[in-house]
Amino acid sequence: MSSRSSSESPTPSRLPGLPEGATDPCVHCGFCLPTCASYRVLGTEMDSPRGRIHTLKAIEAGELVLDATVASHFDSCLGCFACVTACPSGVRYDQLIEATRPKLNTAELRSPWQQTFRQLLLAVLPYPNRLRALLQPLRAYAGGPLQTLIRRSGLVRLLGPQLEAMEALLPPLAPEGFKDHFAEVNPATGQRRGRVGLVLGCVQRCFDPQVNAATLAVLQANGFEVVIPADQGCCGAVSHHQGQMEQTRELASDLVQRFRAATGEDALDAVLVAASGCGHTMKAYDELLNEEQRGFACPVLDVHEFLAARGLSEAFRAALQPLPITVAYHDACHMIHGQGITTQPRQLLGAIPELKLREATEAGVCCGSAGIYNLVQPQEAAELGQLKVEDLSRTGASVIASANIGCSLQLRRHLQEDGPEVRHPMELLARAAGLTIDSTI
Ligand code: SF4
Ligand code: SF4
Repeated sequence: MSSRSSSESPTPSRLPGLPEGATDPCVHCGFCLPTCASYRVLGTEMDSPRGRIHTLKAIEAGELVLDATVASHFDSCLGCFACVTACPSGVRYDQLIEATRPKLNTAELRSPWQQTFRQLLLAVLPYPNRLRALLQPLRAYAGGPLQTLIRRSGLVRLLGPQLEAMEALLPPLAPEGFKDHFAEVNPATGQRRGRVGLVLGCVQRCFDPQVNAATLAVLQANGFEVVIPADQGCCGAVSHHQGQMEQTRELASDLVQRFRAATGEDALDAVLVAASGCGHTMKAYDELLNEEQRGFACPVLDVHEFLAARGLSEAFRAALQPLPITVAYHDACHMIHGQGITTQPRQLLGAIPELKLREATEAGVCCGSAGIYNLVQPQEAAELGQLKVEDLSRTGASVIASANIGCSLQLRRHLQEDGPEVRHPMELLARAAGLTIDSTI
């Protein structure tokens, strides 16, 4: 169990702005507790959904102040929304925590180091060019013998838990991750079935560039023309998750403008995304953006959701070759709880001949990634990451299919060197269809 310390000087602060009556349906039954990732590792009522709802009620009633100690119990929440799925009373905890988070971003509620570290992350991660500039000097280090040596020596511990977690999550850096190399308009292969846009994601394109390449190849091979606006930035998911609403709106608005400029007046069937954290935020653009900024004119869909709805093309199905591997599909929280997408990725993977799907026992529990949670709350995140890889490894699968970049990095960090490898479902589909993106599968 992780421990926490108490604050000595509470700063009085009310918490206005919660959706009217949103805490009322909670009947304190506790059905949400077993699914709650933070309760699982911290074990205290204050770090459970029920406890946080009770806290919010007390703050609203003026019986409790939002001081640093209270705020730490909201910071321990991963925003995984497993409690929303579990709640029989229909409590919208997602709305509660999203309304609470902006209130946590005040100087007196976090230590100076936590504030600086968070600001640094939000100044770098959502901007691919800044992230690439920061990663340049690490190209030889990441995935190389020096990294192995440094990790074995234990020297990284001297950096402190947050920077140690950063180093532990750093994957080998592929050259393609340092430049967006896609054409703006990518034609469909064979019979054209539609036209879609593709969002590259800020972290995904830098750390796992073959995912976007595979997604593009699969979409083209299924008859879709794919528009990828050049110089597109972040969708705003990282800052949205931290309650930094101004930054989120700026990023979201800029992304919409880039798509509008690239597609002109030509309609897209949908804007697609292959990272579920991004998809969850992008689906909320209509609420996040004002009328002047406006969201996308077409639906935003996760690529699995789109392909399952439209169906794989006959030509693509015919091209699928047997892939005799066992795969455990990992349900990212922003996919299963945030977007209600569970069957579609499994359905697509099930189309691959000889691929066997295995199910983990705790699919709905968070892996500890949760945006930047595994960097700002490294101890809790590490416990959750370990529990998740143990659960997935027990399936005996040789491959874990993960459709969210944050989860993929977290799982790779905690898996044994000789454990299952982590791949995006689009990579597996591309491989089976002979659209080889990465020969190491
Ligand atoms: S949030 Fe829902 S599941 Fe959790 S205690 Fe309240 S009513 Fe029960
Ligand atoms: S969002 Fe996740 S971590 Fe937060 S209270 Fe709900 S189940 Fe727990």
